[in-house]
Amino acid sequence: MTPFDYTRAEGSAAAVKQVSGSAKATFLGGGTCLIDLMKLHVENHDLLVDITPLPLDRIEATAGGGVRIGANVRNSELAHDATIYKNYPALSEALLSGASPQLRNMATVGGNLMQRTRCPYFRNGFSPCNKREPKSGCAAKDGYNRSHAVLGVSEHCIATHPSDMCVALIAFDAVVKTHGPKGERAIPITDFHLVPGDTPDRETVLEHGELITAVELPAAPWAMRSHYLKVRDRASYEFALASAAVALEVVDGVIKTARVALGGVATKPWRAADAEKSLVGQKPGAPAFAATAEMATKGVAPRQFNGFKVALVRRVIVRALETVAAMK
Ligand code: SF4
Repeated sequence: MTPFDYTRAEGSAAAVKQVSGSAKATFLGGGTCLIDLMKLHVENHDLLVDITPLPLDRIEATAGGGVRIGANVRNSELAHDATIYKNYPALSEALLSGASPQLRNMATVGGNLMQRTRCPYFRNGFSPCNKREPKSGCAAKDGYNRSHAVLGVSEHCIATHPSDMCVALIAFDAVVKTHGPKGERAIPITDFHLVPGDTPDRETVLEHGELITAVELPAAPWAMRSHYLKVRDRASYEFALASAAVALEVVDGVIKTARVALGGVATKPWRAADAEKSLVGQKPGAPAFAATAEMATKGVAPRQFNGFKVALVRRVIVRALETVAAMK
């Protein structure tokens, strides 16, 4: 690991000033992703500003009936929060499906939003990788790409976004609150992560030195009928091959509100907005769900080893919707 300086933040404004003042400085939350990447020399920083002393660790009700989640809230705490468990169950399920209990006790909400891909060519430090080293190429395109994305890909990168939490957040229209060198921002999570395009090294809309302070979930009574389904190679401590966060509001036997978000198959947490619209006004059931799954995977671009993900994610969508439709 490259030597670095460490300092504890004494306030959000001071932390922003410290990080924005040095091109190689960054914020340190739980460190579960960042420290790994620094040990692998994939990321090299000269200064870590530890933000865990900042008072960003609360889960509070908002005036509009939603929830404000501080950026330093640990994944385990959020998963077991009574309000989240009852009103946004897919978020709780998504969090509990990620990593291990020890990692969830350390990982923060802000860090989870900034989680980086598990593409092995990115992490090994020596393969051509446009994300790690711009314009060096992409070893995954013609390499062993079984775990890679089929949606949102470009000629320059096909890496999946690894987060489970973000898939549920995008289904619930979460908003990311930040404090940066130019002031405060509220960023809809649909706009927060970027598809790779020709700049896969740029993964979010955050500017250097912009600190995530919270995530807000709007009031969403329909979210009580939601579910996160994750399929992976082993039962725990594994990233998704395909996952879906879905929600349904059914009134008088007809779907009034629908949410379909996907993980494990796309380069960013993926909201299947057209598929959601296709469900509205329909009766919940196999024909509607199968058509939705087809629509959610429109435009897929599989490579040599990941074509199985197309059929898999369609089945995940259908099963998740069936589960929610059967909820009392
Ligand atoms: Fe790098 Fe993306 Fe290609 Fe993986 S898929 S090697 S992260 S450019």
